[in-house]
Amino acid sequence: MTAAEILDYDDALASYDPVLGLEVHVELNTHSKMFCGCSTKFGAEPNTQTCPVCLGLPGSLPVVNGAAVESAIRIGLALGCEIAPWCRFARKNYFYPDMTKDFQTSQYDEPIAYNGSVTIEVDGVDYVIEIERAHMEEDAGKLLHVGGATGRIQGAEYSLIDYNRAGVPLIEIVTKPIRGTGANAPEVAKAYVSFLRDLLRSLGVSDVRMEQGSLRCDANVSLMPKGTTELGTRTETKNVNSLRSIERALRYEIRRQAAVLASGGRVHQETRHWHEDGGYTSPGRSKVQAEDYRYFPEPDLVPIAPSREWVEQLRATLPEMPAVRNKRLQAEWGFTDREFGDVIAGSALDLIEATVAAGASAAAARKWWLSELARRANEADLELTELNITPVQVAAVQKLVDAGTINDKLARQVIDGVLAGEGDPEDVVASRNLAVVSDSGALEAAVDKAIAADPDAAQKVRDGKVQAAGALIGSVMREMRGQADAAAVRTLLLDRLS
Ligand SMILES: [Zn+2]
Repeated sequence: MTAAEILDYDDALASYDPVLGLEVHVELNTHSKMFCGCSTKFGAEPNTQTCPVCLGLPGSLPVVNGAAVESAIRIGLALGCEIAPWCRFARKNYFYPDMTKDFQTSQYDEPIAYNGSVTIEVDGVDYVIEIERAHMEEDAGKLLHVGGATGRIQGAEYSLIDYNRAGVPLIEIVTKPIRGTGANAPEVAKAYVSFLRDLLRSLGVSDVRMEQGSLRCDANVSLMPKGTTELGTRTETKNVNSLRSIERALRYEIRRQAAVLASGGRVHQETRHWHEDGGYTSPGRSKVQAEDYRYFPEPDLVPIAPSREWVEQLRATLPEMPAVRNKRLQAEWGFTDREFGDVIAGSALDLIEATVAAGASAAAARKWWLSELARRANEADLELTELNITPVQVAAVQKLVDAGTINDKLARQVIDGVLAGEGDPEDVVASRNLAVVSDSGALEAAVDKAIAADPDAAQKVRDGKVQAAGALIGSVMREMRGQADAAAVRTLLLDRLS
C-alpha cells in the first residue's frame, strides 16, 4: 500500500463518520461438540476427535448439546438479550473443504438470544453497544496450507485438513451498527471485545484465548460523509486475532476507505485480510448476500424451547458483571486508577480478592502479588495462578510480618520455602528458623560484640556522629543472620553508646 492509497487518520475523520459492526465468534468450553459426543480438547493429533456426525457421513444424526444451549442462554442474558421461547437451527449452505456436510448448522432468522445492549467505557465516555443477536452454530475444521510463504492458500503446494474443530460449539455475537464513536471508533471496538472477553471469562463458558482462536472477531466498518445519515458500503476484516490488531486494522480500513471515497471511487463490499506484519488489509472474497446461502430450517434437529423457569434459574447463576465488580473492588480497596490498572494488567484481580478475603490488607496483597510473586512467575514463565502458593498462604505471610515475627526480607525467604513445597508459612518459619530474634539477651550480646569489634565507629557515635551507627547496625544484623528488627537494634545501640 502506498501513502496515496490511504488518507491521514485525522483528515479521514474530518470528512467521514465511521460506523462499526462487530461479529465475535466464541468457542464454548463444553467437553463435547455441538451435535456429537466427540471431545473438544485443543491441540490433539489431527483428525483423532471425529465421528460420523461431525464428519457429516450420510445417515448420521445430530443431537443438540444441552450444556451448549445453557451457555448460550447465559451469554444472552449477560448481554441483556431476550431469550427466544422457541427457536430452530438452520442450514447455511456453502461448499468449503473444511465443511464436510457442505452446510453449516447455524441459526438464521430464529436466534436463541436477541435485542441486548451493553455499556462500555473509553476515556471516561460511556458507549452503549446494542446487540442484535447471539446465536448458536458449529465451528468448521481447520485448513493448513503448506509450502507457501504466508500460510495462505495462495502459493501453497498442498493443503491439509484437520476436522477436530469441526462441530465445536460456537456462539456468534453480532452488534447492531455502532454510530457516534467518531475518531474513537477503533478504541471502542477494542474496548468492546475486551469487555466481551472479561464477561465470557467470568461466565466460565469459554477459554477466550484469542491466540488459540477460541475468541475471534470480524470487524465491519463503513464511512458516512459528515452530515449524512445513510450507511456507506462496509468491508469485513476477518479473524483479527488480538485486541491490538482490532484497533490497528480498523484504523487502517478507515484511512483506506476515506482515500477511496475522497478520490471519487466506490468502496467494494468484500471481506478483507489483516496483515499483522505490514499493518494493512488486502481484499479477500467479495461478500455474498445472505440469500445466496439458501438457509432453511434444519430437519434433523428438534426446535429448542427453553422454559421460562429454566431461563430464570440460569439468570440467577449470572456473576456480577466485570465492570461493576471492578468499580466495586477499586472503591473497596482504595486503589488509584493506575494501581487498579496494574492489577488488571497483571491478571491479579482474583488472587488479590482472595488474599484480602483471607485477612490481608488490599495494599499488602497487591504488593506481594504484583512485585515479589509477579517477578518469580515471570522468571519461571508461569502464570501467577500457577505458582505453588495460595492467597491464604500469602495472607499468612503478611500476618507474620504484621505480628513482627518476620520482617520483609525474611518474608521473601518464607515465600521461597512455600514455593519449594515446604508447607505453610508458619511451618517454613519454624523449619528454617527464620523468626526475628526477640530474645533481648541475644540481641544485647550481638550489640556488645559489634561495639567491641569496631571501637572507632563506636567512638564516633559517642561523639555525636549518629550516621556512624550504620556500620555497627550492619554487623549486628549479620551476626543475627538478618533475624533482628533493625529499628530495635538501632535503639539498643544508641542507648549503649549514649
Ligand atoms: Zn463427532
